[in-house]
Amino acid sequence: MAQLSSRVRALMQPHLRELDVYDPNFTPTRINLSANENTYDVPAMTRAAIDAALAATPTNRYPDPMSNDLRDALAAWHGCARENVIVGNGGDELLYNFLLAFGGPGRTLVNCPPTFSEYAFFASLTQTEVADVWREPETYLPDAEGLVAAARTASLVVLTSPNNPTGDVAPLELVRSLCEACPGLVMVDEAYGEFAAPGTSAEPLLAEHDNLVVLHTLSKAFALAGTRCGYVLAAPDVIAALGAVRQIYSVNVLTQAAALTAVTRREDFAPTVATIVSERARLFASLRELGEHVPITVWPSEGNFLLVRTPDATRVRARLRDEYSILVRDFSYAPGLADCLRITVGTPEENDAVLAALSALVSKQAAASAAPSSKEVSHV
Ligand SMILES: *Cc1c(COP(=O)(O)O)cnc(C)c1O
Repeated sequence: MAQLSSRVRALMQPHLRELDVYDPNFTPTRINLSANENTYDVPAMTRAAIDAALAATPTNRYPDPMSNDLRDALAAWHGCARENVIVGNGGDELLYNFLLAFGGPGRTLVNCPPTFSEYAFFASLTQTEVADVWREPETYLPDAEGLVAAARTASLVVLTSPNNPTGDVAPLELVRSLCEACPGLVMVDEAYGEFAAPGTSAEPLLAEHDNLVVLHTLSKAFALAGTRCGYVLAAPDVIAALGAVRQIYSVNVLTQAAALTAVTRREDFAPTVATIVSERARLFASLRELGEHVPITVWPSEGNFLLVRTPDATRVRARLRDEYSILVRDFSYAPGLADCLRITVGTPEENDAVLAALSALVSKQAAASAAPSSKEVSHV
């Protein structure tokens, strides 16, 4: 897509002038492990039920603005009331609405990088100030004391659990302390919650803390990234505020029908989630073992992805794409993530392919950098 011209930049709101068009850097490849999507599509029987629901959905009428049937199904699942749930056009829309409703000029969002870049992006769109409390640079675990101290004077806190791209879950003790410390709202983004160990969700804390907000999406475990559907669980007045700022028809009739079917049949997704979790363990163990022989570091993860560090990661990513037709996400440009790649857990075959390719590439590059290059030789 064309980049912004200086002409339109001058016409834009001053705080938006430095923006550029989002480029996911997508190339069609044989194996795509770059975007943390579910590598398995919706199970065939479930897809048939979704197709039937879509076929029965008229498109000439506007959608129910609040997706109430879907809210009721989500409320029944999570053991709360319709008033505790709001649905959005992907989790991203709800994150944006969260900043739109509760952020803004003069307000501060406590962020815990390295993490999902959308938080800082939506903060910049809404002119919300960001207070970064960086994760420990080796383990990537959050600095609990730093976060709680920052939360005391903040309007908003966002913590991702499991965190994208580092994979760790937020300790519930930390979530509790943040809710107690923050005079505003604390969001726990559980986009990958279905892949995490039982008992790690912040959801049970909603009963004790009316300033806790939990974000979910159907994009990951439910294999519906293309339909754009996410939801938030929170106190009724928080939900009402999110409802007040939303684009009224953002969740279309087809999305509502597909999501309602998927949520009603959520047990259908359990087998693939279990496979991804066990493949994650296998991929992690294999990468750890590989790391004993070649320069590769991998962090434990509770999501459907693993963060890996290896020298010259940008080149490794390009070679994975060009020589093996495997796409992974490069994070080397991101502060705190030098030489890091994020690999989505795929099918056993895809995981075998990425393991073999990484092993070959990293060994070759390690051997090449151990031997003096021709350029260095010419300097001798
Ligand atoms: C994928 C993701 C989301 C939400 O994605 P949507 O597709 O917009 O629902 C939210 N938070 C994190 C950390 C994610 O990785």
